[in-house]
Amino acid sequence: MDLGIRGKKAIICAGSKGLGRGCAEALAEAGVDLVLNARGAEALAETANEIEARYGVTVIAVAADITAPEGRAAVLAAAGEVDILINNAGGPPPGVWSDWSRDDFIKALDGNMLSPIAMMQGVMPGMMARGWGRVVNITSAAVRAPIPQLGLSNAARAGLTGFVAGTARQVAHAGVTINNMLPGIHATDRADALDGAVVRAEGISLDEARARRAAGIPARRYGTASEFGAMCAFLCSQHAGFIVGQNILVDGGAANQTM
Ligand code: NAP
Repeated sequence: MDLGIRGKKAIICAGSKGLGRGCAEALAEAGVDLVLNARGAEALAETANEIEARYGVTVIAVAADITAPEGRAAVLAAAGEVDILINNAGGPPPGVWSDWSRDDFIKALDGNMLSPIAMMQGVMPGMMARGWGRVVNITSAAVRAPIPQLGLSNAARAGLTGFVAGTARQVAHAGVTINNMLPGIHATDRADALDGAVVRAEGISLDEARARRAAGIPARRYGTASEFGAMCAFLCSQHAGFIVGQNILVDGGAANQTM
């Protein structure tokens, strides 16, 4: 399917690895030029070079912390006018509800709620003026079904979801759509980190931790960054202009819900 977005320009936040990279690759495959962000300059440059070589698009790499105001300013300045924004950042650490301080909550809200909102505020006025835009926020399956040890994530992402629910309906008239993608378990460094915590807590091997977790997913496996990216690219396509303010769960059926 031709996604109809060849020649458009996208910002991909936190995109040198994992799900962000999956989205970057799928958009590049559709002919979209990228402004690719992550903190680690080396891995970012490597990913940017690989994507440019493989798909023949232009990739501008901006090494910066997207949760810091100066990091966001650097990304927005490098990008100029953009058509597509993929919001992403690392997730908050696991823990116990009674241990988290105000500072822990502020950090989580900054990273996973206020930063994506600031990026939307940065690019959406231009998208609306030009009459076309796509925003996809990478959130978490925890928005639909809470993961108890990820209380900081549950809280921050629920806040972003509420903001998007209202705002998506205020910008759709101008051809701008905002949707969220809710990943369940995907095979990325983040999943390795969470599985690593189980390995340490229960004294089992990493393979065993993964097998246990996969057994609880109806698809009996972890998702891949490329299948996640394909859905993201579709949401950014010309065909998805009537999909507004939705929360797309990509979890292999793990959340046991009718809707
Ligand atoms: P990942 O494999 O660890 O990759 C994270 C990417 O984000 C890397 O490129 C990393 O590069 C970049 N990054 C992290 N913090 C950043 C920051 N402050 N500023 C700029 N770049 C940053 O993670 P992932 O699995 O793709 O997860 C992406 C998001 O989905 C996270 O919020 C995660 O919590 C959420 N999620 C993931 C899963 C899963 O199973 N994978 C499930 C539910 C939710 P640098 O470290 O070099 O900056």
